[in-house]
Amino acid sequence: MAFSESALEELGLAPMWVRRGMRPSVETTASADAAGAASNAGKTSAIEAADAAGATSSLQAASPREAGMNARIQQPPAGADEPAWLDEVSVEPPAHTRTNRIVADARADTGTDVATLDWDALSARVTACERCRLCEKRTNTVFGVGDRNADWMLIGEAPGENEDRLGEPFVGQAGKLLDNMLRSLTLARDTNVYIANVIKCRPPGNRNPEPDEVARCEPYLQRQVSLVKPKVIVALGRFAAQSLLKTQASISSLRGRVHEYEGVPVIVTYHPAYLLRSLPDKAKAWADLCLARDTWQKTAGAPPR
Ligand code: SF4
Repeated sequence: MAFSESALEELGLAPMWVRRGMRPSVETTASADAAGAASNAGKTSAIEAADAAGATSSLQAASPREAGMNARIQQPPAGADEPAWLDEVSVEPPAHTRTNRIVADARADTGTDVATLDWDALSARVTACERCRLCEKRTNTVFGVGDRNADWMLIGEAPGENEDRLGEPFVGQAGKLLDNMLRSLTLARDTNVYIANVIKCRPPGNRNPEPDEVARCEPYLQRQVSLVKPKVIVALGRFAAQSLLKTQASISSLRGRVHEYEGVPVIVTYHPAYLLRSLPDKAKAWADLCLARDTWQKTAGAPPR
């Protein structure tokens, strides 16, 4: 090991970790760097293996020697799908610590303020929100629609392509199926139901939202729930159910029971888009809606429908 590397390690300044595919990709011209990179490979594999969340599987090491030399930093390719706020080189803590910290920071960052907003202020805040990387690719935020005093609140995952384009949740074929299911319970989105998503901006490629994105967006949903004051919530699909209930349990294990979110009873059922592909499960979804109706009748003291 060169003296300069030894000195940096003694000072606790090595190695430095950067996100792969983003930047910095470091090019050096010194041929001696080949040997330095080889020694770093062993360190990289050990830390990548410890990365339980998988986030740092996309990390690569840049040796302190490389960082200290006159390295040329390459910019990411145009249009690369990367958040600008990660555009820094930093010494990373272990992945599980980092994820927990990001989620905790995000909750603390938005919760207090958002919890005091009225409908107009909340809607405006979401429209202008840049709290997470999902703002970079969205066309529209998707705030929510329906009766703001409804007994029923339906919560889905995140906007898809059509929702992103129109700014409304559950449009297209899945939305039509949902409307038909609601109609059979004498419910409708424009009269006695409020519909929203856990995440207000479309994840690129309809990927699942990341934990920190959910954490940054959740105060908006929490405020919507506290303003609507529903008597029952129906979680539509696995991701919505897992996000609301803070669990990784399967949707089949969550169905058929009454859960709770923010003090409101929650019933879990399938996402309408899934039901379009799996017609036999429509009967199960109907059973879930019947359980939701029974729960609502108990909670609201409503007469049987
Ligand atoms: S997903 Fe939520 S937190 Fe992220 S930018 Fe959109 S509104 Fe803001």
